[in-house]
Amino acid sequence: MIDYLRVSVTDRCNLRCIHCHPLGGKKFLAPEEILRYEEIVDAVSILSLKGVRRVRLTGGEPLVRIGIENLVRMLKRINSLSEITLTTNGVALGEKAKILKEAGLNRVNISLNTLKRERYIELTGRDALQSVLNSIFEALSVGLKPVKINTVLFKGINEDEIIDFVKLTIDHDVSTRFIEYFPTAMEFSALEKKRILNNVIKDLIEKRFDRLLPADDTVSAGPAVSYRLPDARGQIDFISPISENFCDRCNRLRLSAEGKLYPCLFSPPDIDIKSALRNGSREELERLIDELILKKAEHNEPKGRGEFIMSDIGG
Ligand code: SAM
Repeated sequence: MIDYLRVSVTDRCNLRCIHCHPLGGKKFLAPEEILRYEEIVDAVSILSLKGVRRVRLTGGEPLVRIGIENLVRMLKRINSLSEITLTTNGVALGEKAKILKEAGLNRVNISLNTLKRERYIELTGRDALQSVLNSIFEALSVGLKPVKINTVLFKGINEDEIIDFVKLTIDHDVSTRFIEYFPTAMEFSALEKKRILNNVIKDLIEKRFDRLLPADDTVSAGPAVSYRLPDARGQIDFISPISENFCDRCNRLRLSAEGKLYPCLFSPPDIDIKSALRNGSREELERLIDELILKKAEHNEPKGRGEFIMSDIGG
């Protein structure tokens, strides 16, 4: 059942993460090339008729798009949606958390690969760790709970911080999600060699703490497998696109900033929603979406590298 849509609202970002942003920079889309808020709402309305119930705003960095809270407010009016969430690097969330909560945002995921200031600068190009940490606590205090921290680990870069990320889940309403680094159109082969698989991380956590208990997480059904430490407030989730094939339980579609609908990270975009909305008929668009959903149900294996740049399609 496809009930989850990730919407990239911009390809721009205020960080230059070594594993995500194209080496040497990239040409950004012009404003008229990206979907307008009204168009995103139209697309989500149509997709909600096809079963989409949860929407996640991502990017690029969604908080660099002006008036993102207005989009949340507009989406909130689609009655059949049960949840609107956001994935952010957290740099600008501190000042936006309250207004986003008031606009109707339910939860946030914050991407954070290190808790060390100098290392954060090396990995992202910006001295912003303190802002991100403040954002986590601001999000919790305005009720954007639980906060999920998205963490990608690499050998010799940040693997020594596994335990610190796990500790966050013990005392706070914070869950840590370990995401295996996956190949994209960018050639980051040096990083691919440093990728750490999630079974290694899980073994390490169990050696250091205790056996992980399966968590009963109805909210994040889909690719994530969730656990918790006994008595911990938050969860530990594993998303393992490399060591696991989760096509059979993949419940998501992705809408890129320029309006292409992707059935899967590893499939080419299937529908040009922007052209269809600007030139075509709504009936034709509905027919194309029905076809794409059928095709996704038949797809059962990720193939090759993803032919996308993460900041375009939205992680
Ligand atoms: N700017 C926002 C953020 O930082 O959360 C949203 C977009 S970012 C592309 C979303 C997530 O994708 C981040 O957690 C990032 O670490 C992750 N990511 C980027 N490239 C990845 C890759 N090749 N493999 C695994 N995760 C990746």
